[in-house]
Amino acid sequence: MIEPTYEGLAPAHTVNHCLLLETDSDGLVLVETGIGLVDIRDPDEVLGAAWVETSQPVLAEAETAIRQVEGLGFSAEDVRHIFLTHLDGDHCGGLPDFPDARIHLLGTEIEAALAQAPSARYRPAHWAHQPTWVPYAPKTNDQWFGFTAQQAEGLSAEILLVPLGGHTEGHTGIAVRAGDKWLLHCGDAYYYHRELQQDPETHPLLNWVQTTYEINHDLRLGTQARLRELVRDHGDEVTLIAAHDPWDLQRLQAASNA
Ligand SMILES: [Zn+2]
Repeated sequence: MIEPTYEGLAPAHTVNHCLLLETDSDGLVLVETGIGLVDIRDPDEVLGAAWVETSQPVLAEAETAIRQVEGLGFSAEDVRHIFLTHLDGDHCGGLPDFPDARIHLLGTEIEAALAQAPSARYRPAHWAHQPTWVPYAPKTNDQWFGFTAQQAEGLSAEILLVPLGGHTEGHTGIAVRAGDKWLLHCGDAYYYHRELQQDPETHPLLNWVQTTYEINHDLRLGTQARLRELVRDHGDEVTLIAAHDPWDLQRLQAASNA
């Protein structure tokens, strides 16, 4: 059991929500990696003992992206591209499990991670294998439902980086077109689905976590306000998911099994 040590707040169950996309001409594409094998083998060293103690991650191989990809009959080499919302350890721990994949993310996030690691959030073991980074510079010309966005380089699948600032230096959403609808993986731009209601509600513990890890409070709240408008104006065209909201994961899994 997790002890309620977070300033008296009750513990909460969270997830690391990753997407695996089968594309027509770009192979398998992974959005986020979650925790990987290197984390499970030496969690205190790789993720940091303090983070492991407070977060109490599930350290089970079966839950890693690589084992789930293999469970579907694929291998690591089939994953040719990985898109990351940011480089916090719990989002990119699986990078070493896909050493041949090209890693797409905002350039400002790589710069911050390389400059600050090792730190509580950035863990250098996750890129010690020297992956091929595909960094994106900010652009303002492309638009997606009123957001600045960039089409992924070198892919014909419609996958866009949609910067969503406030959580880290180079935090971005990843938009994926599926037929005539879109899925927007919002990473840590919000933590709890009720934050995107028109009358938003926060979750006490998840709000404590996101406030603790934000780098720009006003920018983060501004991002959430814009996501709330996206839900209000285009909720029938775009499905939003957060990295750590277990209700979002359950909703998507139920929809994909239907
Ligand atoms: Zn996170």
